[in-house]
Amino acid sequence: MVKWRVMALERTYAMVKPDGVKRGLVGEVLRRLEHKGFKIVGMKLMQIPRATAEEHYGEHRGKPFFEGLVSFITSGPVVAMVVEGENAIAEWRKMMGATNPKDAAPGTLRGDFAATIDENIVHGSDAPETAEREIGIFFKPEELL
Ligand code: UDP
Repeated sequence: MVKWRVMALERTYAMVKPDGVKRGLVGEVLRRLEHKGFKIVGMKLMQIPRATAEEHYGEHRGKPFFEGLVSFITSGPVVAMVVEGENAIAEWRKMMGATNPKDAAPGTLRGDFAATIDENIVHGSDAPETAEREIGIFFKPEELL
């Protein structure tokens, strides 16, 4: 009997946050993504406008950390990326590690490089619908190669 493996070629929105850029971790993040075999199909250095940050983090509007989060993410340049690969959404979340670096395993980016939840180096979409929405916020279709 032939067993077929279900391939899920996905695209996810990945971002090096301002703390990651300031600390010179862009190369480290890219190295890990490329070594894992993921394809970078979109990438730009940008300073996120406030309105874009509020849209991106819309699900957190009203929470106590929302204002701080928006201020932080707009505080300096980020590297915005679209990453493609098999199960890219879940795999990139695994590589990032838990939201709170205190709970993030060694070997993950947050486990290895971050100390506090408000400055945790990287972002990644958490589901296919989120990935589609976030990619659309940061990239025009013609910017994806
Ligand atoms: N965040 C925070 N305080 C909290 C919860 C979240 O500062 O109590 C920030 C944190 O930087 C996190 C971001 O808000 O990365 C978005 O939260 P989410 O739960 O979506 O985590 P993520 O998807 O980034 O792991």
